[in-house]
Amino acid sequence: MTARVSGKYIVMLNKDRRSLFMTIKLKIKDNKRKRRSHRINLVILSVIAIMIVVALGLIVNSFSGSTSASPNLLKKKDKVEAEVSISTIESEFPGIQIRTETLDDANKPFTLSYPRSEHEAFNDQVSSYIEEWKTRYAAVQEETKSATPNGLTISFDTVEHSSGTYSFVVTSSMSMSGDEQQDIRTFRLNPQSGTELQIADVVDQNVEKLKRLTKAVRDSIYNDSKLQDTIRVDNVWLATEPVWRNYRNFALSDDSLIFYYETGVLAEKKQGPVTVQVPLQKVNPFLANKYQVAVEPSSEKLVSLTFDDGPDPRYTEKILASLEKYDAKATFFMLGSRVEKYPEMAKKVVAAGHEVGNHSWNHPPLTGLTDEQLHVEVKGTEDVILRVTGQHATVFRPPYGLVDQRVRESSKLPVVLWSIDTLDWKHRNAKKMLENVETHAKHNSIVLMHDIQESTARGIDPVLEFFHSQGYKFVTVSEIDEY
Ligand code: ZN
Repeated sequence: MTARVSGKYIVMLNKDRRSLFMTIKLKIKDNKRKRRSHRINLVILSVIAIMIVVALGLIVNSFSGSTSASPNLLKKKDKVEAEVSISTIESEFPGIQIRTETLDDANKPFTLSYPRSEHEAFNDQVSSYIEEWKTRYAAVQEETKSATPNGLTISFDTVEHSSGTYSFVVTSSMSMSGDEQQDIRTFRLNPQSGTELQIADVVDQNVEKLKRLTKAVRDSIYNDSKLQDTIRVDNVWLATEPVWRNYRNFALSDDSLIFYYETGVLAEKKQGPVTVQVPLQKVNPFLANKYQVAVEPSSEKLVSLTFDDGPDPRYTEKILASLEKYDAKATFFMLGSRVEKYPEMAKKVVAAGHEVGNHSWNHPPLTGLTDEQLHVEVKGTEDVILRVTGQHATVFRPPYGLVDQRVRESSKLPVVLWSIDTLDWKHRNAKKMLENVETHAKHNSIVLMHDIQESTARGIDPVLEFFHSQGYKFVTVSEIDEY
């Protein structure tokens, strides 16, 4: 920007580097300034800057008659700028229109298509997202004035659920200086009722169910071959913690829940936004009735053997050897204090491919503790398990099965109790343990045992043999999806 001061102000605006100069003559007399020398100092420059803004306003006003656009200085200062055209058409989904805004400008084009409905709250939500992108795009224009042309495209897909809820999956893609930035944002609306579907509605407002959903989401991420080279393992755990905000960007179809994570969160940036698909079949027991699907009865019988209160230097290893004979995977609910004391044993459990659960630090009844004590028991154990074994505990079993809302909330892990109590700690009798199991065994049984009991280490083989002979498959407790 250059300026010359005389009886009149002549202001020249350098428009980008397109050598487009706009000369504006201002009919403003300023006697005081007349007397000043021609030396341009900073004060004058800033006065001029203010006047330019004022002048631009005046100029635009002088083009009255064609003032349909909003009073936006950015748009108005350039009269050669292309107009934004807006069209709205009906979509194939009743109650939903498609609005498209297009700017046909070679240097900064955009095409923005997004859903509209009869519901203000929904429209506002979508609009503010679109505005966010426009602002970001304008900022990029500022930064990259001289670089290659930029572009912004926003489009959307509609995912239907038979409940009448639509999930709009809005994909935004901005190119700048040859680089691409992508984002996926979802909006869910039932156009009949005007309600927005939240993930809490899908899992019955129940955090324990969200914790189970978390497991399915993590499994899906870890097993996604597309992510193998780019996954950010350390980030996945936190980004998928079972708190509502980690699950708010989702779509619901009649057979799956689809979650979207921002670029750089679950995987390296080059991967773009990550889509995680969870079949409803896999999480069916954790869904609100309305969203459950018909599940084909499995012919497979599952059982989960669980071992509490260890690890133990005398018996845990013996139990590991027995499990291996049957190619059985089990779950060990460990005490933090014992993991610290017998780290090698804890590591052996993990190395053998078993699941590790949190069973508190010292085995107190957790419901009677202060918040601070509870935190030490629960968090301290989760921390030591991770530190010693390199793996997160994935399930939580409060001692004695004593649990209330506060205890549940003390951990982000699902609370898992049992369905068959072998009472091995009480009778210390291998034969009785087997009888107990034989009497109560059924599909999805969770068997409670203790790897600190000699009788259990001795009696585990017959238990394994029994389930094996009955055609059961041994799985970790996380794979038992009964709630
Ligand atoms: Zn216990």
